Amino acid sequence: MDSNNTSTPKGILYIVATPIGNLRDLSLRAIEVLRTVDFIAAEDTRHSRPLLDYHNIDKPLLALHEHNEKQTAQRVVERLLQAQSAALISDAGTPLINDPGFPLVRLARTHGIRVSPIPGPCALIATLSASGLPVDRFSFEGFPPRNSQARLSMLKSLTGEQRTLGFYESSHRILEFIEDIGRIFPPERPLVIARELTKMHETIVNTSVAHAAAVIAADPYMQRGEFVVLIQGAEEIRATETLSDEQMNTLELLLEECSLKSAVALCCKITGARKEIAYKTALSLQEKR
Ligand code: SAM
Repeated sequence: MDSNNTSTPKGILYIVATPIGNLRDLSLRAIEVLRTVDFIAAEDTRHSRPLLDYHNIDKPLLALHEHNEKQTAQRVVERLLQAQSAALISDAGTPLINDPGFPLVRLARTHGIRVSPIPGPCALIATLSASGLPVDRFSFEGFPPRNSQARLSMLKSLTGEQRTLGFYESSHRILEFIEDIGRIFPPERPLVIARELTKMHETIVNTSVAHAAAVIAADPYMQRGEFVVLIQGAEEIRATETLSDEQMNTLELLLEECSLKSAVALCCKITGARKEIAYKTALSLQEKR
């Protein structure tokens, strides 16, 4: 390791964002860099070929994907240390954002190699920018767990989060995921489903937790393609704000007889409790049982 040794010339590693659907979303600087580096490390060389051909980029490609990235990172860094320059690209969007590249960037930086981002498309940021939900603070949660139990407990842990929540999901599990959100989050919470961004069938739907599953189920096209889901954060609940004794007693009684969702809805109707507080309390009461 010689991160302070500036006398040895080293190559630069460029982290290049590529389109998430529309081939023309490759920036001028990205094209320039991809044309001038010595080689390109790509998640799937066959997948990237049409994009590179479209922009007349003809460079040696090296496969760097989740199954070989530790060993390949070593090879790439050796070449960078010999003053070659490289670009890292993934199948779509910004590398490392739910894509390979972390071991490479980490290794390059520990060797004092310059790592330079060439920013561009990212499905999460594109969705946030057009969603109409608050974007001053957000939390990206990546892909939800595939296992239903794990998914439900992950969602439970996020109900009190005040930042806008962002998830990636594939067409195979989008309906299950949205249904699970409906089991855990308050029904009135605003939710956005973005699908096939920058492509011909781009769709961005503003809905709520209560209605989201119906939006997906009603249209077979809404179960195809690639998805980003955003859930608006919880309203700020002051630390001191809790249910009154009467509201608490009512909620406890209702939880013995009905589902969490119905208990909360009825408790709010009967006692005028705030939904977010009733939900939070109901979840913690249920956990203690
Ligand atoms: N690195 C990418 C980025 O910067 O957005 C994300 C890669 S991740 C493996 C792929 C997931 O991103 C998809 O399953 C989907 O959830 C989301 N995604 C990618 N392209 C999309 C698009 N055009 N429209 C909606 N979601 C997209």
